[in-house]
Amino acid sequence: MNQHAPNQSTSKKRIDEFVGKGSPAVSFEFFPPKTDAGWAQLYGTIAELHAIKPSYVSVTYGAGGSTRAKTVELVARIQRELNLCAMAHLTCVGHTADDLGQILDDLWREGVQNVLALRGDPPAGQTDFKTTQGGFGHADELVAFARARHDFCIGVAGYPEGHPQCLNKLRDMEHLKRKLDNGSQFVVTQLFFDNEIFYWFRDTARKMGITAPIVAGIMPITNVAQIKRFIGMCGAKIPHKLLLQLEAVESDPTATAEIGVKYAIEQCNDLIRNGVDGLHFYTLNKSRATVEICKSLQLQR
Ligand code: FAD
Repeated sequence: MNQHAPNQSTSKKRIDEFVGKGSPAVSFEFFPPKTDAGWAQLYGTIAELHAIKPSYVSVTYGAGGSTRAKTVELVARIQRELNLCAMAHLTCVGHTADDLGQILDDLWREGVQNVLALRGDPPAGQTDFKTTQGGFGHADELVAFARARHDFCIGVAGYPEGHPQCLNKLRDMEHLKRKLDNGSQFVVTQLFFDNEIFYWFRDTARKMGITAPIVAGIMPITNVAQIKRFIGMCGAKIPHKLLLQLEAVESDPTATAEIGVKYAIEQCNDLIRNGVDGLHFYTLNKSRATVEICKSLQLQR
């Protein structure tokens, strides 16, 4: 393990310092844009969401390592320039252990101490995940590898409705437990819309000995076609009543966002009342819906 202390310039740098300890953590997820216009929009979004004072923000890792340099650069920049606690997502897709080691070293050198360790999805055009020769087949292996490499605070993905590739939800939970046993410290869930499913997931996790904080993944619906595409990929379900309401206004973006934001506010309020460890907003690099929700929940600190 590399013992050199990373670059220290911000106050709270590690998610394990606060998640699951007191009030729910609030986090925002961004992705590295592909175009200059996308970057301009992202900086505007980050500036607006910065005012909410999130507990941390995270930056996704593009399929097949396509955002390798951008993810590292964006996370480091957010942390350095905005003094925000930041987390880099990292996937095993297309990488050998050596590649992953180098990326982890880059993050550590930049002072980024939080990593969401993921297997990743198969690249576009492939249906099955194929382990890269000399790489890892599951996230639990990446967790163990990152744990041995540097003193990272490591998060992992959890699936309240089960991961689409694992038909047995309890088996999926065993796989989640292995990721925690291998050295990760908290869970961020896939998006979901039915809190009862989340509560089942959390209760089952606790019964199976998972004690780590579980942060709920929230996606405010602002576009019906888009959310249908997402849930088609990740296996989440939209409650029938909500779906009918959304489909009735599908062609009206304002009315769609109104319903989506109202639903997310009710969903988050219920999660907070039921002691959720954190709310992780999938922002899609847009601020409006997330700002409205956080203001309504009085999560502006
Ligand atoms: P794993 O934990 O490895 O699980 C994958 C499948 O294998 C599951 O069905 C599981 O039950 C099974 N499994 C796990 N371990 C074992 C084992 N040891 N033996 C046998 N079976 C096993 N994708 C990106 O490309 N970039 C991102 O930035 C990104 N961010 C995400 C953030 C969050 C919060 C979430 C929930 C998902 C994110 N994803 C991202 C999507 C994620 O990469 C996919 O869901 C992927 O299919 C699974 O990744 P995982 O880390 O959960 O994999």
